[in-house]
Amino acid sequence: MGLIRAQWVLDDERGPVADGVVRVEQGRIVQVVTGTAPIRRLVNALGEKPLDLGAGVLCPGLVNAHAHLELTALEGRLSGEGPFAAWVGQLLRERAGCKDSDLAGGVQRGAQELLAGGTTAVGEITSLAISPTWAGRSPMAVRLYHECLDAGDDSRTQGALEGVREQVAATALPPAISPHAPFSVSAGLFAGLGALAKAGALPITIHWAESREEQEYLLHGEGPLAEHLGPAPRRPGLDLIDEAGLLGPRTSLVHGNYPMAGEPERLAAAGASLVHCPGTHRFFGRDEFPLDRYRRAGVNLALGTDSLASNTALDMRQEMALLRQAQPGLNPADVWSMATRGGARALDLAGEVGGLTPGARADLVLFQVDSAEPEAILDELTAACPPVTALTLAGRLQEGLPRATSASDR
Ligand SMILES: [Zn+2]
Repeated sequence: MGLIRAQWVLDDERGPVADGVVRVEQGRIVQVVTGTAPIRRLVNALGEKPLDLGAGVLCPGLVNAHAHLELTALEGRLSGEGPFAAWVGQLLRERAGCKDSDLAGGVQRGAQELLAGGTTAVGEITSLAISPTWAGRSPMAVRLYHECLDAGDDSRTQGALEGVREQVAATALPPAISPHAPFSVSAGLFAGLGALAKAGALPITIHWAESREEQEYLLHGEGPLAEHLGPAPRRPGLDLIDEAGLLGPRTSLVHGNYPMAGEPERLAAAGASLVHCPGTHRFFGRDEFPLDRYRRAGVNLALGTDSLASNTALDMRQEMALLRQAQPGLNPADVWSMATRGGARALDLAGEVGGLTPGARADLVLFQVDSAEPEAILDELTAACPPVTALTLAGRLQEGLPRATSASDR
């Protein structure tokens, strides 16, 4: 329980507002009160002195809608040059050379890096059953997706499906699944995962339309991926996802760099989300991300860091800044929304994280900003990677971060 005060608060509707208090009970946000007189009345009514964090803007924690913390140990080892299939090959070789203890250490380090940059919620994909141990104990909000693939090999399908069923049953967190991608999941496996998702109303995330090579393979059975995979479906990936019953409001599709005509509209109609990963986009030197097509279609958009196998940091501040650089015409408020509310919806955690909303987890971040105008503050938050000087998870101030100590009686 308590009141947390700061120089500015980022109100869900009004944006940055000077002098605000967030009232927290049992780890949840109860209300946000702004202005000196209303705050004084609240303080008097409760007879409780706020924890005053002082200078900076108090925000909801950032939401990273796509990560693979299990790959943190591969930091700096892979190159994005050459075919996508070659990168996948490098990834598998490097990963096979890592001890489980190194990978588990990487998960911990990755989570710390997220917190240090103000990220308090993450969509983590586990493919090695290493991050569930961390996720089950983490005070962060974790949406844990269990990855599943068979690389189009029918002899692997049943085992893959049983494996994901076992993992889903074994973790303490609410179940969620990640059919890896249309090029690595057979029709049979898609059908099995579709049934599993439907039975449990599970959140789903799927890599989709990331590379031109993916399209070449799926549609024509050609290109570098064809050398490693079985016969091509000769169908668009989105059709395969949709027919398996995996395209719905609990679905987030990741990357979507090369949508075909009409596909953004299909995402919007299904209520599905699209997660863009600016750091990975830059790593592979992709063509300009078609953000405007998704926006015009009305698709819910989110941001993710992906992993350090294809990015230089696990920092949502950097993802926002990269997106601003790549698409200078974007409104800072829209970019902020992608990194907060949009991410929450993509993870099927709307109302739980991503806003200073009554009932949401009290996962709060104080960012230091130099600006003194609301518009300029949003610009700074999304373009300048402002320092994090305090952070709470479920209302608890986290140690190891600098903390303002003054408790003035403004
Ligand atoms: Zn990924």
